[in-house]
Amino acid sequence: MPVANERIIVLESIRRNLPGIVTVLLALAAVSCDRQSPAIDRQGVNPPEISLHLSVREDGTATPLWASGIAISIGGDAATALINEKRPLTPEASAWQQVLSDYLPLVEVRAGAVAELFDVPAMDVVVVAGNRGSSDGFGWIPNHIGINVQAFADTYGSPDEGATDRMVRIVAHEYLHLLTYAAYPNHRELRQTPLDRALWTIFFEGIGDYVSVSRRWLPDEQGNYSPVAADTLSALEPVFVERLEKLATADEQTEQELRAGISMGKFDRKWGSLPVALWLHSEVRQCGEPNTLRTVFRLERGSVLMLALRHASPEFRPAIRALQDRTGRRQSDAAGVGAGCLATPRDR
Ligand SMILES: [Zn+2]
Repeated sequence: MPVANERIIVLESIRRNLPGIVTVLLALAAVSCDRQSPAIDRQGVNPPEISLHLSVREDGTATPLWASGIAISIGGDAATALINEKRPLTPEASAWQQVLSDYLPLVEVRAGAVAELFDVPAMDVVVVAGNRGSSDGFGWIPNHIGINVQAFADTYGSPDEGATDRMVRIVAHEYLHLLTYAAYPNHRELRQTPLDRALWTIFFEGIGDYVSVSRRWLPDEQGNYSPVAADTLSALEPVFVERLEKLATADEQTEQELRAGISMGKFDRKWGSLPVALWLHSEVRQCGEPNTLRTVFRLERGSVLMLALRHASPEFRPAIRALQDRTGRRQSDAAGVGAGCLATPRDR
């Protein structure tokens, strides 16, 4: 998202078009997950309370709460005008809203699991369903997530057998963003230079994509990349390095051009967040999930280049080390290349 808008969370619509990683969700998704069903196994997770606000009224106008969310990206006047337009839910959008409503307990379980994985306090949130003026998912501080069910319908068509998984993954991605902002109330101070701003975005969206990529992006049991992940990394790693090198010396004018595609736009072209998500999956497969994720979360921006050093093609290591030197975050401990894990023994 543009730096200028960073006072809010506005979470770009991610083409998070794939089922998520988290085993708890996959396991639960296999079960009957009807909202009234008692079959949801919370597996020891203490889920937060996620309440649902349906913003689209019967006459097609929307409630002011939806305006407060979309105003962040389109402005207050435009948001007010938009909620007063009569845009009743289409059948497809209504079906997506029903998915969200029916499976809210599953969303809660997934949210609780995400908080636990990253070792941050869970947060009760309000999910606001609307049908205009935004991407499919976004959020705003401190505790609101917007889901544009019309955007879901436009992008994915009518809900299919993967709809529940997709909805839960996208809400979980936005939920992790809210937790991240809560954990780093000083996040603006962490972004004083173009390079630091880029690294923050890549960290922030990289862990978001980590929780929302689907199964086809995941590595095998040995940590080997899936075919689509390997091909995508081959294409994106050179871009990742080149853009960060240029951002290290960029002025504010060129910064925006260089950030294009860092975590927005076509999913498989997201040169910043997607490589980090895929590297992180590989790291997790080799080193275990909670310890790795907690370490990454604690290291925030610094984790980006550490993951790059460990997992990007070796030809990029000199450039990545030079970037680490620029940020003063070069690591000499177990986070280096080769054996071991990003999480040090103490962390683990
Ligand atoms: Zn995001």
